Amino acid sequence: MIATRLPAQLDVLIVGGGPVGALLAQRLAATDLSILVAEAHPAAQDDPRALALSWGSRQLLGDANLWDAALDATAIERVHVSQQGTMGRVELTHAEVGLPELGCVVRYGKLATLLRQRLAAGPVPLLENAEVVALHALETYAEAQVRHAGALHSVTARLVILADGGKLATTLPGLHQHSKPYRQQAILALLTPASPHNNTAWERFADGGPLALLPCGEQLALVWTQAPEQAAARLALTDAVFLAELNAQLAGRAPEMVAVGPRSSFPLTLKTMDQVVGKRLALIGNAAQTLHPVAGQGLNLGLRDADTLASLLENADRSDIGSSAQLARYALLRRRDAGAVTQLTDGLVELFRSPFLPLKHARSLGLLALDLCGPARRELARKMVFGAR
Ligand SMILES: Cc1cc2nc3c(=O)[nH]c(=O)nc-3n(C[C@H](O)[C@H](O)[C@H](O)COP(=O)(O)OP(=O)(O)OC[C@H]3O[C@@H](n4cnc5c(N)ncnc54)[C@H](O)[C@@H]3O)c2cc1C
Repeated sequence: MIATRLPAQLDVLIVGGGPVGALLAQRLAATDLSILVAEAHPAAQDDPRALALSWGSRQLLGDANLWDAALDATAIERVHVSQQGTMGRVELTHAEVGLPELGCVVRYGKLATLLRQRLAAGPVPLLENAEVVALHALETYAEAQVRHAGALHSVTARLVILADGGKLATTLPGLHQHSKPYRQQAILALLTPASPHNNTAWERFADGGPLALLPCGEQLALVWTQAPEQAAARLALTDAVFLAELNAQLAGRAPEMVAVGPRSSFPLTLKTMDQVVGKRLALIGNAAQTLHPVAGQGLNLGLRDADTLASLLENADRSDIGSSAQLARYALLRRRDAGAVTQLTDGLVELFRSPFLPLKHARSLGLLALDLCGPARRELARKMVFGAR
């Protein structure tokens, strides 16, 4: 439901109606809590990101009535992992984990737009063009300053949930953000392959940085990470030269690419918080952790943050909402999954960074060993699909 004004008091204020905030709001719709989602911007329809959503994430969205054929999702049935210049490779398939698919690919713009529409049509009030600019926490409630309709308004809530993608957390006393710039940019583009992708996703550890190809309709969505100078140079190449450089990196491990659409780029930094809760405050999604896109885990992890917090809030007494015991429980429940996935993505980037030949061969052997060891392969696939909970 679209709200037109800001109430003075709430049980729960959700800051940000992106994919993670929207899932949480939708999950809380059946409770009798007074809730508001404050969203600063229109849904980013043109965002060029193609997101790999795990089967587990798709279930979470579906169970909350946030899945729709209009998302034009493309199934991922097989993931092929290889390293440039060596023979080692590993393949994970949906069949060996007994699922209809490992996951699927959706465009961020389509997902954000659908979720915003569902939010606007649902029972939880959504205040648009409402930017939370400051937060102040006291013992029994938190106070937020919200810029809306040209004025600054004050609202109090038993619990403020930051689902804003990560900016506000850096301004709050008592919370500390650790930032690790990768000195890498991701080039994004849609590619046309010479032969069908057969619902395969490719992750290739090229010498300059990891490169992913995600099936997206008949096309493949490219996420090619590399040093900022190299990315700037490649963004300026003609399509023909860009494709020639890309095909050289793929070296026949994936179909040859014959056309490329508009290219854009994103800077990559790992951001983690020393804690994901504060007084009357919980962080979810990118506000809690912003990961390298290698292995496509950021949103998947964020949706599990929202799922966990929703389960705690759904079953709580009103007097317990935002209590230190409830927040400690949320932090504890998320520690293992968030830690494991953050370590996995950061570890992959660091492990495959060095072009030193003996190290490359050792990594190649690691991939081969994983390919030969069914239980280890299945365990990895399950972690990627359902997280480490
Ligand atoms: C190149 C790239 C590729 C990626 N690929 C994948 C992938 O394949 N799979 C995957 O799982 N993840 C992937 N990710 C990560 C994924 O995009 C993020 O994890 C996800 O978007 C986080 O969702 P969120 O809702 O937490 O934050 P966001 O999507 O950033 O949404 C935050 C929302 O809060 C609003 N907001 C911000 N500030 C305020 C404020 N002060 N007041 C009110 N509202 C505010 C914003 O307008 C926005 O709507 C990728 C990321 C990148 C950069």
